[in-house]
Amino acid sequence: MSQLLQVSALQKNYGQHEVIKNISFELTQGTATALIGPNGAGKTTILSMLAGLLKPTNGQIQFDGIVGDPRAAIGFLPQYPQFNSWLTASEFLIMAARLSGLTAQTAKEESEKMLQFVGLKDAANKKIGTFSGGMKQRLGLAQAIIHKPKLLLLDEPVSALDPAGRLDMMNLMKSLQQEMTILYSTHILNDAEQMTDQLLFLKAGKLVEQGSLQDVKAKYEHRQIVVEFKVVEEAAQFVVKSTLSAEQQGNIVILQT
Ligand code: ADP
Repeated sequence: MSQLLQVSALQKNYGQHEVIKNISFELTQGTATALIGPNGAGKTTILSMLAGLLKPTNGQIQFDGIVGDPRAAIGFLPQYPQFNSWLTASEFLIMAARLSGLTAQTAKEESEKMLQFVGLKDAANKKIGTFSGGMKQRLGLAQAIIHKPKLLLLDEPVSALDPAGRLDMMNLMKSLQQEMTILYSTHILNDAEQMTDQLLFLKAGKLVEQGSLQDVKAKYEHRQIVVEFKVVEEAAQFVVKSTLSAEQQGNIVILQT
């Protein structure tokens, strides 16, 4: 399988504060990668740099096989997507498609296909202001993929959703895996276990572990490793533990450095 993206020695400073510290990883075409780390670890900062929204302080982000501006080949669902609440889902998606450079006719066709894909066909003509959180997240996904990107970046795509919404979103993401390379962030290990070829564990701006789920599990076999999410992350730790079965908890791989 060929490589889509190579990140080398990536660094980002906010003023004097170095929040991303010399990070390198690769994304292989057609794979799903989970970027896992507690709040504040730097997940949004990394995704924003990959999406071309933020300039790295140092390091390189190199796309292979993408001709022209790589941003055209990227779809991005931010952690808190913004919507014009007075627009209908259909109007919003057509607008997003036109902004991505699609013709009026294609934008209309693609928006219908996308609404069908994310399960919002019946809500196509409803105003977004009336949507639930899960519906908005699905609409955000439709917007992120309407131009058929090669790389899909999703920032905490399921963390704000209830259990039914999480399942919906994970299933949609899984069904996209055949068509595009996916990198998504989460602070909940159990979410990552559901869809991942590669895990990247981020802690305080550093990549502390990377590899396949199997590799990481094998490495930490027989070791009970405790999440070091500290006080602010107690809630996340609780979620990690409570959503796993007893058997899964026995295999849990959570990193402390
Ligand atoms: P995560 O997505 O993992 O929660 P972020 O990438 O949002 O982490 O943040 C990483 C670190 O960078 C945090 O310490 C955060 O406070 C800091 N940070 C994020 N955005 C800014 C900004 N615009 N200015 C200064 N510091 C920031």
